[in-house]
Amino acid sequence: MDSIEQVVKREQDCFAYKNGKCKILRVLTCEGTNCSFYKTLPELQMDRQKALEHIQALDATNRNEIINLYKLDIEKQISGVSGGDGS
Ligand code: SF4
Repeated sequence: MDSIEQVVKREQDCFAYKNGKCKILRVLTCEGTNCSFYKTLPELQMDRQKALEHIQALDATNRNEIINLYKLDIEKQISGVSGGDGS
């Protein structure tokens, strides 16, 4: 069983944990590592990178459909992943 101090440290490691609150979910208290959405910033960046690589590997038609559907700026996304502020 983790001590309270250990749990707080882990919560703060989540990319979505800001100023004691979760910035992506409507929850009163962060669930820490038990949360299905818990992800560290490096994990978030890795997942974004994989998604971008997957999109770039698609044929041009499908790639462009996704880029237009989600209004993606691939260059901006790639620099965001490598620079990574997590926001
Ligand atoms: S662990 Fe879950 S509830 Fe806590 S900050 Fe991250 S996403 Fe939000």
